[in-house]
Amino acid sequence: MPVALDPEKMEIVTRHKFGYKVCRKCGARNPPDAEKCRRCRSKNLRPKKFKKK
Ligand SMILES: [Zn+2]
Repeated sequence: MPVALDPEKMEIVTRHKFGYKVCRKCGARNPPDAEKCRRCRSKNLRPKKFKKK
């Protein structure tokens, strides 16, 4: 099966590769480069990465 390289899918792949940050306070997901939670502005973020083989 050929892999389609459209930008939308690439974005999703990138997002899954770098994962995201979860706020320990409110549990909101934030972008991986976020320093503050966008919901409660807490800096208590925990990086979460997807690792697939
Ligand atoms: Zn938060």
